[in-house]
Amino acid sequence: MLTISLDLLDEMIAHCRSVYPEEACGLLAGKDSVAEKIYTMTNAEHSGVSYMMEPGEQFAAMKEMRQEGRTMVAIFHSHPDSPAYPSSKDVELAFYPDACYVIVSLIDPDRPEIRAYEIAEGQVREASLRVLD
Ligand SMILES: [Zn+2]
Repeated sequence: MLTISLDLLDEMIAHCRSVYPEEACGLLAGKDSVAEKIYTMTNAEHSGVSYMMEPGEQFAAMKEMRQEGRTMVAIFHSHPDSPAYPSSKDVELAFYPDACYVIVSLIDPDRPEIRAYEIAEGQVREASLRVLD
């Protein structure tokens, strides 16, 4: 379960579009499954089919969210040309069972599809995504 404001959602989608056709990635920080702040990250792989958050940026973001009393509520990335469902690599590299994994599919650029998942021990479960105006 993840709650996100429309403003943050728009910002996330804008970032995904801005790096198309590469996969975009980043973190959502907040409290109790409510996203309050977005951290967009450089995809160090600069790939259209996979991502790795630039380690220095990720470290700085994690440090700042701790200092600000937030936790990492979600990890997001885009799928430029595939559906909003975790790839086998996404499942393999899902190291944070307490976070939501948000995927933004840009198959239809005008109508991004956004879905959230919980991934733990290789199991994928769709999570509910609540968008607040
Ligand atoms: Zn993926």
